[in-house]
Amino acid sequence: MLKNPKQAADSLMDWYHVHKRDLPFRGIDNPYFTWVSEIMLQQTQVDTAVPYFNRFIKRFDTVCTLANASEDEVLKYWEGLGYYRRAKHLHESAKRICFEMDGVFPSDLKTIESLKGVGRYIARAIHSIAFNEPSAAVDGNVLRVISRLTGYDQDLMKPANARVVEGVAQSMIEHAPPRDFTQALMELGATVCQKSPKCDVCPMQSMCVAYQTDTQGELPVMIKNTKRTEKTYHVFVTTHEKKVFLVRRPDNGLLANLYTFPQYEGDLKTALKSFESEFKVDVDTHDEAFKLDHIFSHQVWHLVVHRVELKDDSALSFVSLTDFPYAIAKAHLKIIDQLKVI
Ligand code: SF4
Repeated sequence: MLKNPKQAADSLMDWYHVHKRDLPFRGIDNPYFTWVSEIMLQQTQVDTAVPYFNRFIKRFDTVCTLANASEDEVLKYWEGLGYYRRAKHLHESAKRICFEMDGVFPSDLKTIESLKGVGRYIARAIHSIAFNEPSAAVDGNVLRVISRLTGYDQDLMKPANARVVEGVAQSMIEHAPPRDFTQALMELGATVCQKSPKCDVCPMQSMCVAYQTDTQGELPVMIKNTKRTEKTYHVFVTTHEKKVFLVRRPDNGLLANLYTFPQYEGDLKTALKSFESEFKVDVDTHDEAFKLDHIFSHQVWHLVVHRVELKDDSALSFVSLTDFPYAIAKAHLKIIDQLKVI
């Protein structure tokens, strides 16, 4: 598919050494840090992830520090990043590494991939970046670059087709230092071969099929079939002297153990009744403040946010948001932000 993998790898590496961004997880010789960064960068933009990464590794400086922390504290350090399951899996796997592997991060691909929350891509990214092993890692950026470079127009949502792309990346990584190559290919996808590609400054231009055939806009082909369940909730915001009333979600399911304002499905009347009966309160007044949508990978929440006054709020425990030690769900952080309740 790629006529000259060595030439492609050489061009990429020459470009990378000049243009790579200075990121805190680059150039570190610590598989634990590489693992944390790769988990954070899944579903999160680099600019957003960087401050989280810096804070996280400052507090949890070794895999055993992470293993010995409480889940509540780990979630607090993840607060606002979303996809909290990533943090829970990271914590669980840290315990496994610390208590079952003497705190030594595994270096073989199979064991890395067996860690909870680590799929094929992250395992291969860690294997190549942290251990300098030639395992090509293919994420969304790499799929885009290689499909354009080779003119590969098959549906990349199909695992077998994504493996074809991985095979091309594998043919290239064997001609370069694996640690740098993996980061270089991702970097090219993130900064040059973006959705609107900057072909004029791309080191691969002379060998790129999409550039030569003017088909950059048609590649990659990814036929998505994500049907999200839609749910509507009434959210009740009760405040008392700059404090708010929050509830902890159950310890399983979506957003397990995170804090939110009370929220209920159904029509408003039923939702208010549920709120009153659950917390043994009487609602005095309620005003709809605004609506907002929050999108998860398989669900969309339509949140109707109400400010609520109670006849007597003495039965509720209100908390200050300035020093609240637990993680609040991202959707509800947005509510806090919009209501400016702090
Ligand atoms: Fe992407 Fe354009 Fe470079 Fe081809 S030439 S790899 S389409 S940026």
